[in-house]
Amino acid sequence: LFDALADQAAVAIERTQLAADVDRAKLAAEADRLRSALLTSISHDLKTPLAAILGAAGTLKEFAPALPDEARVELLSTVIDESERLNRFIANLLDMTRIESGAMEPNVGLHYVGDIVGTALSRAKKIIGLRKTEVAIPPDLPMLRADPVLFEQVLFNLLDNAAKYAPEGSLVRIRAWTDAGWVVLHVMDEGPGIPAEDLERVFDTFYRVRKGDQVTAGTGLGLSISRGFIEAMGGTITAERRADRSGAIFTIRMPIPKETPNPEYS
Ligand code: ADP
Repeated sequence: LFDALADQAAVAIERTQLAADVDRAKLAAEADRLRSALLTSISHDLKTPLAAILGAAGTLKEFAPALPDEARVELLSTVIDESERLNRFIANLLDMTRIESGAMEPNVGLHYVGDIVGTALSRAKKIIGLRKTEVAIPPDLPMLRADPVLFEQVLFNLLDNAAKYAPEGSLVRIRAWTDAGWVVLHVMDEGPGIPAEDLERVFDTFYRVRKGDQVTAGTGLGLSISRGFIEAMGGTITAERRADRSGAIFTIRMPIPKETPNPEYS
């Protein structure tokens, strides 16, 4: 009996080891696949703006004297815009590594959300040409403990997405209010929205919902970085679907600081 049991145990152990080997092999294959998808995606995101820069700069070098002023300005704008895109992408990659290594140290102070929204909006209007916006932020909203640079970057990412995925000229709304101990902020658009099964996954690194989204410039990094930033400041960020019509809603919740921050806003 002992021998039989020992044999059975040996077989069981061997099976477990085999299963573990198979699991390990599967994991390694999945890691390889992810690594190569990551490299393809990063190379693509670096190559696209670089190709545009090289094209515009090459044309300028060859034909500048013969070109009308407007054409020269347009080519130069392409060089600047695409360089900015590259710059943002590289900054995003660096932010991502800082978040993942836990080296993110927000520089927090007390700030009025309306001011941060104002800065993010004017940047979005200038850089991405965001047009139709509606902002409703009460002037007596409590101040928040936040890093204004990080918070503005999150809002900019959300506005950038709204501009990218919603039809041109549709309305983007930003609202803020208080709810128990929280300041709640909504960024809402009139685009296709996010399918229910993807509402959580859009915050994963490099996750993009639609095949078609690959044609819009993007990296699948914006939302995961945004979540990293907001969580580093003690808040939460989630995505929902609009109930009244199609469109995405992003909700940021930030705790209201315990101390009375500023009599003007408290
Ligand atoms: P990126 O926009 O660079 O792809 P993000 O992390 O910002 O990366 O977004 C991840 C994905 O979530 C997008 O690729 C898109 O599929 C989806 N998404 C984000 N914002 C919106 C939005 N406002 N409307 C519809 N889909 C969105």
